Amino acid sequence: MPALPEYEVYAIRYATREARRSDHFIGGDPHDAPMAMDYFTWVVTGAGRTYVVDTGFTAEVAAQRKRNHLRCPAASLRLLGIDADTVKDVILTHLHYDHVGNFHKFPTARFHLQDREMNYATGRHMAYAFFGHSFEPEDIVGMVRLNFRGRVAFHDGDEELAPGISLHFTGGHTAGLQVVRVHTRRGWMVLASDASHYYEHMRSNRLFTTAYRLDDMIQAFRKVERLADSPDHIIPGHDPLVMKLYPAPKPDLQGIVARLDVPPAAIETSTTPAKQSATAM
Ligand SMILES: [Zn+2]
Repeated sequence: MPALPEYEVYAIRYATREARRSDHFIGGDPHDAPMAMDYFTWVVTGAGRTYVVDTGFTAEVAAQRKRNHLRCPAASLRLLGIDADTVKDVILTHLHYDHVGNFHKFPTARFHLQDREMNYATGRHMAYAFFGHSFEPEDIVGMVRLNFRGRVAFHDGDEELAPGISLHFTGGHTAGLQVVRVHTRRGWMVLASDASHYYEHMRSNRLFTTAYRLDDMIQAFRKVERLADSPDHIIPGHDPLVMKLYPAPKPDLQGIVARLDVPPAAIETSTTPAKQSATAM
């Protein structure tokens, strides 16, 4: 059997906002303090393939929602030598506004999405602000249109996209959330997206405030842990610590792009020891 490809993995930080700890944990936090949130798009590249994971939000939506937009996620791909016009595969972990905006800037891409996410985003729950407020109706309508053009690739559960890269359904945060497992030079990593917004959620078994099913959110933590070679192989969806733990690929990209397929710096994040090699899936 040929060796698995070892992909390079990058995070591009495209927006940020000030927030407080009590915003991020169900039940609040006894030590309320500032807790900023970063917003990322991710890139997996290697073996002649490039996957963009999530497409962020636009400057217009940032203004509406009072987020601090730093750069366009699609245009920022050029920092890694990638032209959004030529990207063939975009993985959407879910359809929240901060993960699917800018889809129209990928004119030749197929969008990989869980069946259950499309059902959720076009179904009865969107009538309730608790569930619907994190979606932009225009994004969802856009995805429906793309589907009629054959540009949505639906997945149901766990599926391999190519050797060394697979999608894994977790649900919980939304009905159809999926995470991405990637084989790299340092082993199996998981882009957890909103299965764990910050390292702290997964490591303390506390839940983020935007939720579809709390039981599935807890089980998503465990599934992500099983899929990754160690806790340090898991990349949370919104944690500013990611930019501190991982190096910029070039000095002038400090604070903008982080390379994730190299070991993280040894600053304190782990509360659990690395487990033995995973028997994942
Ligand atoms: Zn989300």
